[in-house]
Amino acid sequence: MARHITVVGAGVVGLACAWDIARRGAAVRVVEAGRVGAGSSGGTVGALAPHAPENWNPKKQVQLDALVAAEGWWAGVRAAGGVDPGYGRTGRVQPLADDAQVAAARMRVEAAARNWPRPFGMAVTDDPGALPCPSPTGLYLHDSLTARIAPRAACAALAAAVRAAGGTVDEGAGPQSPDMLDGTVIWATGAPGLADLSRDLGRAAGNGVKGQSALLGFAAPGAAQVFAGGLHIVPHGDGTVAIGSTSERDFADGGATDAQLDALVARAREICPALADAPVIDAWAGVRPRAQSRAPLMGGWPGRRGHFVANGGFKIGFGMAPAMAAIMADLVLSGEDRIPDGFRLA
Ligand SMILES: Cc1cc2nc3c(=O)[nH]c(=O)nc-3n(C[C@H](O)[C@H](O)[C@H](O)COP(=O)(O)OP(=O)(O)OC[C@H]3O[C@@H](n4cnc5c(N)ncnc54)[C@H](O)[C@@H]3O)c2cc1C
Repeated sequence: MARHITVVGAGVVGLACAWDIARRGAAVRVVEAGRVGAGSSGGTVGALAPHAPENWNPKKQVQLDALVAAEGWWAGVRAAGGVDPGYGRTGRVQPLADDAQVAAARMRVEAAARNWPRPFGMAVTDDPGALPCPSPTGLYLHDSLTARIAPRAACAALAAAVRAAGGTVDEGAGPQSPDMLDGTVIWATGAPGLADLSRDLGRAAGNGVKGQSALLGFAAPGAAQVFAGGLHIVPHGDGTVAIGSTSERDFADGGATDAQLDALVARAREICPALADAPVIDAWAGVRPRAQSRAPLMGGWPGRRGHFVANGGFKIGFGMAPAMAAIMADLVLSGEDRIPDGFRLA
């Protein structure tokens, strides 16, 4: 049984794996080329939103279990390291544009009742929530499961928890390569890691999908987040509201923001007129790791004994990280393989 683990990458996935390993009493070292949250985890949105509850499948069940457990999981991180990750189960409202959307929402309410555990559920309501957004029908789909997390604070909280549990987080270590690392290694290296994996396997394992997001100065700390027109509008606890995100397959600079973000902010102001005069205090871009399957990707690195991959968080990496961490900790510490079908690196 491995008791000394190296995790490469201090994004939410690598840090979550390291935290789960450290709290089980094993020695863990995180090695990061840049700094904590240098990759796609260093953003601002932090929606922990469930998949649609209809057409249920095992992938949705794994995500549901992770979202249900998230409140206690992040409370444990906060208690261990003393840093607040900004978690809040504040729910979500979706304005319903027409009768067809109202009918679909009512079906969704029934599906949530079938597939989600109590007390979580959905309801069609005329309550716009505390961050009002007009609805053409006057109706909204509300859910009580969706939560928020502050991505940068969450990474800082995880790093603090790892250190408090006796692990180390080495920032500024430069890009790691397999020949630099002994023993058991988890590669949680996000989009660059998918490129490395693709090169090594000689086939496409995944790719990066760029996203841009903005942070507005607007205090609505207890308000439910809004999902409308494909936009996430997420009030955080620190007097900010995040707007996300673009989704770009073709890009030259993964870290640059441009007019697409201006358009996103303009749309968010139309959806929630209360944000009309809120200043943009942060504009950010990052590259999401998208596996070919679009699902998280876990397992042994083919041909590299003792090396493992934890990647593919794509658009829900913060929601999935606790589940991925538990699966990876079981795998590397005791050899127990609980990787769900569809998440396995073949
Ligand atoms: C605009 C945007 C909005 C998003 N919104 C949400 C959201 O609302 N909810 C949600 O759940 N998810 C969201 N996501 C997705 C989420 O951010 C990602 O799924 C998650 O950050 C992936 O984490 P990761 O740890 O796998 O990768 P990363 O955060 O990219 O971390 C990988 C780390 O590995 C390091 N690294 C890479 N190669 C090496 C090497 N060779 N040696 C050493 N270090 C290395 C990098 O520097 C980096 O720090 C969003 C993403 C974007 C871009």
